[in-house]
Amino acid sequence: MTATSPPPGPLALFGGTFDPIHLGHLRTAFELMQALKLSEVRFLPTGNPPHRQGTLADAEQRLALVRAAVADQPGFTVDDREVRRTGLSYSVDTLSELRAENPGRPICLLLGMDAFLGLPSWHRWQEILQLAHVVVAHRPGWKAPTQGPLGEAMIDRGTGSIRDLHAQPAGRIFVHAVTQLEISSTELRQLIAGGGDPRYLVPDSVRSLLPQLGCYARRQ
Ligand code: ATP
Repeated sequence: MTATSPPPGPLALFGGTFDPIHLGHLRTAFELMQALKLSEVRFLPTGNPPHRQGTLADAEQRLALVRAAVADQPGFTVDDREVRRTGLSYSVDTLSELRAENPGRPICLLLGMDAFLGLPSWHRWQEILQLAHVVVAHRPGWKAPTQGPLGEAMIDRGTGSIRDLHAQPAGRIFVHAVTQLEISSTELRQLIAGGGDPRYLVPDSVRSLLPQLGCYARRQ
């Protein structure tokens, strides 16, 4: 950065298993990027959970699908650090690394409401709010919590101001409605295993890569 260039806008992180990535993920990230004036949305596929067959495609395959999905969208990037890491990876550790790499820059962690409601079960979740803002995308049927630790966090940290997300590096919670596309990775895996075509549920770049990678199709 030169002395005259403006400070970079918020870096947004969108983590997930992405098994596989679909248009629900992409549309949510795109609408949040536009509405919140985010300068970058970085997709962070999770690594393979050790000692557990947690996903049907391995981390390299899921990473390849995410790369193909975001390739044509300026501002969308991919971070493979969790895929490269061996052993358990916690979001708080990834966020600590990114905070150290981006001192002073606003960081927004993008979560669906279902993921947000599970936040108190995350390792050292309170620290996450010291490292980043949390931006919650509405999904149908989910209500913002008003009680318990998340209800309290909403009272202390909730904001309706996009300016707060740009002015402060971390610490606010912002809830934003996005177009609801009820696509789920679980249903996509079932569809493909049953010989179905995921057209119009995933980007064409992902659809054409799936047969090459051979993931999700039932072995003959
Ligand atoms: P699965 O069906 O395998 O549980 P998932 O799509 O719910 O998959 P992830 O890939 O881990 O799970 O989701 C990553 C993030 O995307 C989470 O924050 C989740 O809330 C959000 N998300 C998942 N599906 C949608 C959707 N259709 N629209 C908007 N956000 C979504």
